[in-house]
Amino acid sequence: MNFKQFNLDARLQAGIGQAGYQTPTPIQKQAIPTAMAGHDLIGTAQTGTGKTAAFILPILNNLLSGPRHQARALIVTPTRELAEQIHSVVQTLGKGTGLRSATIYGGVNAAPQILALNKGTEILVACPGRLLDLISKGYAKLSTIEFLVLDEADRMLDMGFLPDVRRLLKHIPTERQTMLFSATFPSEIEELAAQTLNEPKRILVDISRPAHTVTHALYPVPRHLKYKLILEMLKRTDTDSVLIFTRTRHRARNLARKIDEKGFKVTSLHSDRTQGQRQNALNGFKEGKFQIMVATDIAARGLDIENISHVINFDMPDTPDAYIHRIGRTGRAKRTGDAFTLVTPDDADMVRKLEKIMKQKLPREQMESFDYSVEAPPPPPRQSRKPITAKDLRRRRSIKRTG
Ligand code: AMP
Repeated sequence: MNFKQFNLDARLQAGIGQAGYQTPTPIQKQAIPTAMAGHDLIGTAQTGTGKTAAFILPILNNLLSGPRHQARALIVTPTRELAEQIHSVVQTLGKGTGLRSATIYGGVNAAPQILALNKGTEILVACPGRLLDLISKGYAKLSTIEFLVLDEADRMLDMGFLPDVRRLLKHIPTERQTMLFSATFPSEIEELAAQTLNEPKRILVDISRPAHTVTHALYPVPRHLKYKLILEMLKRTDTDSVLIFTRTRHRARNLARKIDEKGFKVTSLHSDRTQGQRQNALNGFKEGKFQIMVATDIAARGLDIENISHVINFDMPDTPDAYIHRIGRTGRAKRTGDAFTLVTPDDADMVRKLEKIMKQKLPREQMESFDYSVEAPPPPPRQSRKPITAKDLRRRRSIKRTG
């Protein structure tokens, strides 16, 4: 099967050629004809399945007829990085169409976004907060939107964006085509789908299963040896580009510093960094300037980075779905990759859940000649504190008064 049989406009066929796609991925095979037939659609697809092109191609095809110079398609995404990524897919696939796309998100100057809105850019790729802000100030109007995509809906829920999404919906005509994509369907997302979509067709691809091309391995390790083990792992493994996940931004910062001290080219992606720093980290990692990027789940969600050879979970993710999302970054679109996870005895429960969902026992690996028997350092001694007496209190008060 190739893309010809979707009867897409020749200009889009050229864009597909430019992107280097030859055969449609499973989600594209199902979603493109459904969306072109005008149905609302719920896509259960993890990132890495080609879902972006699955919704962009039908939208571009539809936009080729009808008015120009007005906002007609709105794609709502949870993160700025994802917005940029979708925008760049629109630009590649829609290159010969003359249709324009703009990103709208916070943390950057609004002036270019306002300009794009004034010019009647046809496709808006937006994070909810900034778009609502521009609507409230009268810069953005969504009354001409005909196509709406809610991408990574479960992540928008996790990030607390659902109230903003609901507010946005009030500004969009009900007469429209809506597509909602989510890797998981907690009850809040089912509810949102029921309220937002009209007799949707459900499309299900690889639900909660990572891409088949990924090799998984667990590395059991005592908690106090995690840093040592990962540094050794990086030293010994033949890697092209490595994405490492930590549970918190604080741990991401710390780990990146330790890796840097060992002489690796490393950067980090987390919410303590400014938008400029995040973009530089991401671009540098994509271009190979940094071999390693340490990230938190939220910052790295949905990112499409080619050729990641290894994903390493320095910290076990909180849920099996988070694992699937993290691993979705390697082995993308049939490339192969390795996924290593450091597991401590505290993670036993999560490992069980994960293996149940993946319907397989994950191999446990030991790093050869690594000294697992090093004892944990003793906890720092507690500061002994003398109990505060009434006399101390009186003295403190008098210091306050006089000082
Ligand atoms: P996505 O799930 O949309 O983030 O896409 C994951 C990756 O797959 C991106 O790098 C796309 O460029 C790539 N991709 C999407 N569709 C195809 C296709 N039909 N053939 C090959 N690669 C594709």
